[in-house]
Amino acid sequence: MSHFSIRCKKCGTVLEDTYCAFCEHCTDSLLVTDYREKLFRDDLGEGLWRFNWLPVHNPEFKQSGPLVYKSESLARVLGLENLYIAFNGYWPERGARVMTCTFKEYEAAVALENARENGVKGLIVASAGNTARAFAHISSKSDFPIIIVVPKMCLLEMWYLVESVKVPTVALTDGDYADSIDMARKISSIMDMPFEGGVKNIAKRDGLGVVLMEAVSVIGRLPDHYFQAVGSGTGAIGVWEMAERFIKDGRFGDRLPTLHLAQNLPFAPMVKAWKRQSREINPGDLDPSLINLISTRVLSNRYPAYTVQGGVYDALVATRGQMYGVENQEVFDAMRMFEETEGIDIVPAAAVAVWALVKAVRSDAVNKKDVILLNITGGGERLLEREKGTFIVEPIFVSKDTPDRELEELLCNQLKTD
Ligand SMILES: [Zn+2]
Repeated sequence: MSHFSIRCKKCGTVLEDTYCAFCEHCTDSLLVTDYREKLFRDDLGEGLWRFNWLPVHNPEFKQSGPLVYKSESLARVLGLENLYIAFNGYWPERGARVMTCTFKEYEAAVALENARENGVKGLIVASAGNTARAFAHISSKSDFPIIIVVPKMCLLEMWYLVESVKVPTVALTDGDYADSIDMARKISSIMDMPFEGGVKNIAKRDGLGVVLMEAVSVIGRLPDHYFQAVGSGTGAIGVWEMAERFIKDGRFGDRLPTLHLAQNLPFAPMVKAWKRQSREINPGDLDPSLINLISTRVLSNRYPAYTVQGGVYDALVATRGQMYGVENQEVFDAMRMFEETEGIDIVPAAAVAVWALVKAVRSDAVNKKDVILLNITGGGERLLEREKGTFIVEPIFVSKDTPDRELEELLCNQLKTD
């Protein structure tokens, strides 16, 4: 028997098939995992797999998790007494060995293992960059076939670890992230491989919730505040859902951590909607031309999980949360500030969260004794590049107008040559 079931957050229906993305009654609601064990455990194995609240049974590969530690230097600069950092990336001298340098690696590991255990033969993944790298890495590490779809404009910021280069990658020449999701759906039906499902995939959200499990394991309690930069919002929702499991456990606190979420201005549709206290995103705030003006393209998701039942809006309401808009110059300042204090490089998206913390301290949204968890969603890229080397992606180029038959031929050839 499975150690979990999944349930619709809106109507409460419990689904028998644990590889479902939708409730048949409600298309506007997320499903959530209910684990039979209500008490948290972190002694089941190694790395990621030592936690009991993951939708996998028999993981077939090793997977590193986050490094959570108490900050001294950045904490001093900010005047905070209990600042904890969840570092997700490459920093071997501190024991951090997430080779793709992004927390999306947990999402990929859990989603792939969950798919395999559900008899799925392969997955189609659409991504603006770091999710693609994470899935490519786990695919080659675990011999599970995937096809990646990315917008061409994101290729410049993409890199793979050496062993991931052979993973078929389709670059869409005439479109953005939203168009690459459409293309992924099309390829999914042509190749008869399911689309990974984005935020609707419970395994992805629970995988990202690992950050909170590691933090509670280290700190011994739930944090009062949680800071993260958001693109789709998948990670923040995963952390909120995980926090609710800890509340039900009862041993780690009785108050949900307040979510402090941030985006890079001027492309900050969730920040703008939240400012209006609205569940609806203004279509004008999703204008693709705004994406060219931000320095963190991984946060440029035009289909964020904000409005959906159980999404970012509900997470903010439930946790008395806040959103922060961060300017490009502040992103660069925060990258420098973090590296100078903590001694490791971080990606621009992570710096967006750092600056949100700076703003929260300045506006007294947090107190100096509060237990704060800062999610550094990616870091150590420069160190990894220097020590290991990285590789550029060699994609198959297609356009929105490429006929289905041609697509199928290109992809079959690519999968065969592997
Ligand atoms: Zn439902």
